[in-house]
Amino acid sequence: MVDVAVIGGGISGLATAYDLKLRGHRVVVLERQTHAGGNAVSERLDGFLMEHGPSTVNAASAAAGALSLQLGLDGQRCDLGNGVRRRYLVGAGRLSGIPIHPLGFLVSDYLSPRARLRLLAEWAIPRKKGGNEETVAEFSVRRFGSEFTDRVIDPLLAGLYAGKASTLSMAAVFPRLIDLEREYGSISLAMLCRHRRGAKMPGSRLFSWRHGIGTLPAAMARRLGESIRTGVAVRRIRRAAGGFRVDAGAAGDFHARAVVIATQPHVAAHLLDGVDEAAAAAAGGIEAPPLAVVFLGFRREQVEHPLDGLGFLTPESEGRSLSGAQFCSTMFGGRAPVGFVSVAGYFGGARAPHLARLPAADLIDLARSEFRDLIGARGDPAVARVRHWPMGLPQYRIGHPERAACLRNAGARQPGLFVTGNYLDGPSVGACLGLARETAAAVHGVIAGSGVTTSAENVAV
Ligand SMILES: Cc1cc2nc3c(=O)[nH]c(=O)nc-3n(C[C@H](O)[C@H](O)[C@H](O)COP(=O)(O)OP(=O)(O)OC[C@H]3O[C@@H](n4cnc5c(N)ncnc54)[C@H](O)[C@@H]3O)c2cc1C
Repeated sequence: MVDVAVIGGGISGLATAYDLKLRGHRVVVLERQTHAGGNAVSERLDGFLMEHGPSTVNAASAAAGALSLQLGLDGQRCDLGNGVRRRYLVGAGRLSGIPIHPLGFLVSDYLSPRARLRLLAEWAIPRKKGGNEETVAEFSVRRFGSEFTDRVIDPLLAGLYAGKASTLSMAAVFPRLIDLEREYGSISLAMLCRHRRGAKMPGSRLFSWRHGIGTLPAAMARRLGESIRTGVAVRRIRRAAGGFRVDAGAAGDFHARAVVIATQPHVAAHLLDGVDEAAAAAAGGIEAPPLAVVFLGFRREQVEHPLDGLGFLTPESEGRSLSGAQFCSTMFGGRAPVGFVSVAGYFGGARAPHLARLPAADLIDLARSEFRDLIGARGDPAVARVRHWPMGLPQYRIGHPERAACLRNAGARQPGLFVTGNYLDGPSVGACLGLARETAAAVHGVIAGSGVTTSAENVAV
C-alpha cells in the first residue's frame, strides 16, 4: 500500500511525485519505458547535443525556476545565446528575418503593405460580444486580418502546438488574449501598455541547462530513487477498499489511496474507462498527431545562413514539408563541437501527420533538401538522427476547455483520482510543471483530509 501511485514518469508525473515526496508521502511512479522523462530526452551524439523533445523552458514559469533552484541545477542553467537576434518565417520560398520587438512585423517587409495596414487598424475593430467558442483562426482573422493569420499565427501554432489555427480553440490556447480583448478592446493597445511597462518578448526568456532539458527529469528521478519503477506498464485501475488497485501486469498490483494519471491522453482514456466514464470520454476526445524531429550537424562552412535566430517557422501556404526548425547551436552553448553547427527540423503534427510516419532515411533526405533550400546547408551532415513521436502534441481543439475541466474535476466524481499532463493547462514544460505542483497540492489535501493516518503524518511525527 502506498499513499499515491503516479502513472507515467514524464515531466508531469515526475514533478507531481517529487512534490508529493517532499511533502512526506509514500509515492510510487510507474513508468512504461526503461527510462523516466517521457519526451524530455537529451542525447549526446559525437559532441553534439540532440533534444528529442523539448529544447527550451520559459523562464516565466515560476514552477520551472523553483525546481531548477531546489534541485541544485541553477549552476548548469543557460540562457539563450547572444546570436539569437531575429525570428525567421518562410515567405516566398526564403527566410525572412523579423526583428525581435513588438513592431517587428510592421517594419519588416514579410507582410504585404495591405496586411500591415490591417494590423495597424486592429485597435479600431470592435470587441466580440458573446457568441460561440472561436478557433484561433477565427479570432485572429477578425482582429488582425487573414494574411497575418495565415503567415504568422498559423506557423506559430505549428511551432507551439504542432497544430493548425483553423482547428485549435482560442479559449484553450490563448485565453489571456481573450481577456485582453475584453479588458482593453484591442490586443495592440494592450500590448503597447505592457511594452511600456517593460514586459519582455517571449523569445528572450527561454532557458535550458548545459546538458539539455533531460537534466531536469534526470535530477527529479535521482531524488525519487527507488520510488520510480521503470519498465512497468499499467493496464487497469479499479476502485478498491481505501483507494485504488493499480494493475501493472507482470509487475503485480499496487494499492494506493490516490492515483495520479500522468500519461498521454489516449492512455489516460483507456485507464479511466470503468473508473470515470466522463473523464475517459474527455481524454479520448483529445488527439495527438505524430511528430518527427530530424537533427542534423554540419561543419560551419557547409551552411551559408548566419543562423542568427531561434530557427524558423513555415506557413502552410508555402507548401513545404518542414513545419519549422531550430538553430540549436545558436540557441545555447555546447550544442555542437567547435567549428560545427546543429539544426533540428520538425515534421508532421496536425498539418501533415503522414510525414511524421515516414522512415528515418526518407525524413533525413527531406530535411536535407529543405535545409539546402532555406539555409544553404550543403554536403553530407556530420550527424543525422531522427526521433519519431507516434503521439506528438495534444491538440487543444474546439470543445477543449470543457474536456480539460472534466478531467481536472475527476477527483470530484471519484475521490482520490487525479489527472495531470500536457493536455490540460498547456503543452509546455513550464505549464506541465505548474500543473504538477497544483496536482500535488490537491492530492496532499485529499490524503491529509481523509482522516486516515498518512505516511506524511508518520514522517512529521
Ligand atoms: C518534439 C517536441 C518538442 C517539444 N518542444 C518543447 C519546447 O521546446 N519547450 C517546451 O516547453 N515544451 C516542448 N514540448 C512539449 C513538452 O515537452 C511536453 O508537453 C511535456 O514534456 C510532456 O510531459 P508529460 O509528462 O505530460 O507527458 P509525456 O512526456 O508524454 O510522459 C508521459 C509518460 O507516461 C508514460 N506512460 C504511458 N503509458 C503508460 C502506462 N500504461 N503505464 C506507465 N507509464 C505510461 C510514457 O512512457 C511517458 O513517459 C515539446 C514536445 C515534443 C514532442
